[in-house]
Amino acid sequence: MEEIEIVIAGAGICGLAVALALHRKGIKSVVLEKAESVRATGAGIGIQPNGWRVLHQLGVASTLQSTALPILGGRDISIQNNGKRRESPLLPVPSVGEVRCLKRSDLVNVLAGQLPTGTIRFECQIVSVELDSLTSYPIIHLQDGTAIRAKVLVGCDGANSIVGNFIGLKPKKVFSSCTVRGFTEYPNSHGLPIEFIRIRKGNTLFGRVPITDKLVYWFLLHRWNPTDILKWPKIQN
Ligand SMILES: Cc1cc2nc3c(=O)[nH]c(=O)nc-3n(C[C@H](O)[C@H](O)[C@H](O)COP(=O)(O)OP(=O)(O)OC[C@H]3O[C@@H](n4cnc5c(N)ncnc54)[C@H](O)[C@@H]3O)c2cc1C
Repeated sequence: MEEIEIVIAGAGICGLAVALALHRKGIKSVVLEKAESVRATGAGIGIQPNGWRVLHQLGVASTLQSTALPILGGRDISIQNNGKRRESPLLPVPSVGEVRCLKRSDLVNVLAGQLPTGTIRFECQIVSVELDSLTSYPIIHLQDGTAIRAKVLVGCDGANSIVGNFIGLKPKKVFSSCTVRGFTEYPNSHGLPIEFIRIRKGNTLFGRVPITDKLVYWFLLHRWNPTDILKWPKIQN
């Protein structure tokens, strides 16, 4: 059985950031990722001042700052059933500090690009974890039938985490929703203010934030409720 000091499960934002933080301290780790490359699911991600502090510590902030404009403000717009519109300021406001929306692909690629070659092992799906009865170290079983004994296992394997399940965490399902996210590219600049707009009506939420003067990130989220399920019985399957 292969022996590795520190294994990180998952090469998402958290797994890559943990591996890079260890690397900056001169500590080696191996990241096991089930996908064949780093994922950028979700299109964009808002990074607030606490996130920027981490990215500065990791030594990647200046590279990422050059990929996105600072967001100067935001508005929350709520459209009521009678058609009336209520508007209130939304974080980020300038006093909060640095806030930018990054392309998730930029973030994960910059984090991954700083790691020594071979740190991330792709197509390595963890199927289960058990404790070695002799050493009490975790033994990580992979889908290809091999196993790794680690001294430290860090669970960054996202929702439905195998590591979380192993240590007995029971995540709560808060709500169920359907979301579409994406970018719109404007070859000659969008001309929009650099602000985060959120518009809510009933169970539907739309958000929009420019990343650069030519690229806008947007999402449309619909929270399911029992009435939707009656309207679209296929959802039940
Ligand atoms: C679909 C989706 C879209 C989102 N979009 C946004 C957004 O646009 N903006 C925003 O601010 N936030 C968004 N979020 C929330 C936030 O970005 C996520 O919570 C964040 O990605 C969490 O990072 P993570 O590294 O913990 O997990 P993840 O990004 O989920 O990464 C976990 C990694 O572990 C790997 N993995 C999982 N199981 C195993 C296994 N058994 N073996 C090996 N590898 C495994 C996965 O392939 C994945 O690469 C989104 C969340 C989701 C689920």
